[in-house]
Amino acid sequence: MEDNMELREQLFYEQKNGYDRLSTEESIRMNRYCREYMEFLNEARTEREASRYAIRKAEEYGFRPFTPGDPLLPGDKIYVSNRGKSLMLAVIGARSLAEGAVIAGAHIDSPRLDLKQIPLYEQDELAYLRTHYYGGIKKYQWVAIPLELHGVVVLKSGETLDICIGRETDEPKFVITDLLPHLAQEQMKKTMSDGITGEGLNILIGSAPYADDGKDRVKLAVLSLLNDAYGITEEDFLSAELTAVPAFDVTEIGLDRSLIGGYGHDDRVCAWAELKALFDLKEIPDRTCICILADKEEVGSDGVSGMQSAAFDFFMADLCETQSVPVRRCLEKSFCLSADVTAAFDPLYPDVSEKRSESKLNHGMAVCKFTGSRGKSGTSDASAEIVARLRGLFERHQVIWQLCEMGKVDQGGGGTIAKYMANRNIDTIDAGVPVLSMHAPFEIVSKLDCYMTYKGILAAYCG
Ligand code: MN
Ligand code: MN
Repeated sequence: MEDNMELREQLFYEQKNGYDRLSTEESIRMNRYCREYMEFLNEARTEREASRYAIRKAEEYGFRPFTPGDPLLPGDKIYVSNRGKSLMLAVIGARSLAEGAVIAGAHIDSPRLDLKQIPLYEQDELAYLRTHYYGGIKKYQWVAIPLELHGVVVLKSGETLDICIGRETDEPKFVITDLLPHLAQEQMKKTMSDGITGEGLNILIGSAPYADDGKDRVKLAVLSLLNDAYGITEEDFLSAELTAVPAFDVTEIGLDRSLIGGYGHDDRVCAWAELKALFDLKEIPDRTCICILADKEEVGSDGVSGMQSAAFDFFMADLCETQSVPVRRCLEKSFCLSADVTAAFDPLYPDVSEKRSESKLNHGMAVCKFTGSRGKSGTSDASAEIVARLRGLFERHQVIWQLCEMGKVDQGGGGTIAKYMANRNIDTIDAGVPVLSMHAPFEIVSKLDCYMTYKGILAAYCG
């Protein structure tokens, strides 16, 4: 009997490497897209910075701030900033909002080390900043790497000072020290989760003493430098939001330059894809296209700037009001692409994955029908109908994509903003870029997957 290749080809589903289907022209567009993304990622290291960068770009593309009550016409491009930490943008479509909107939602916060509110202290003639980590981190990854300080100090007067130290090449950086292996016998016996503790993540900020005879001379020297530069005192830390982030530049990885390494791909890689897709809408879209850049996803999407905030509901209601459409009519007809990263299969750690179901680098935009953990706990689980709609859409727009879930069934898990959108009666599905070393200070994505995620979101916007 002979091998019936034809029948196999016809009946089997096989996921191919995206490079086998990428044309030369597409490859050029991919590289151009990724260069712009890398610029964004280099500058946008906090949600405030990402939001500011997005507003600047949006205004270049003709977007303007929206005030509730303003009339809106098809083709109008507007944005609403939520306290400078999250951003909602829209391009008004030709059809009524009663027929629903297309929403893409990503988050712009990333795991990091926030400073405590009384952070500065001196110990044995060295000055340190105490931190309280934000989001899910493996603490041992954050020692012995260069760090930068970003954020704001808000003075009693209400004046806000923007702080960014360490981004420029001639600026100093900071570090959390680790024990030398020679003396680490006891430390090395600990588990990886106990080896470095939360209270142990203290950032070295200075060592030269102030020239006097008093106490805490190094702390005094550090404060006097801060006072010279920003006019602040130790009390001003009380009303500050300062955060330490990795000081690595975003860079190409691999001899073939096919990958991008950097801090905060999760989830600025999808945030940029959404933004760029919105900017690149050539004609007035059929349905109103909305781009959400949310804050606080890494800590549960709570608070005024998180995806559970009523800020989004009010934004939608304000848009609907311009067309005298009840917002619930709009939401029930809307579609949301919850654009977030997922774990890429890592050949160095195959044991945590069920290979057939894990997303793979260079296999394109990764669609997750559900997230959550164990028995699909804590997920919205998109319907088969929604997946089918995406299949058709991506085929029409030649988007290279893959369907995946994260890790083995009982291995662990995670969530995104998807369920908070679905809870609002919006048909929602997760899709985004596969990441290696996710949540590490230096994460890896593939250029092909970045570009295909952009194409996928653009396809959703265009319909
Ligand atoms: Mn994420
Ligand atoms: Mn995350």
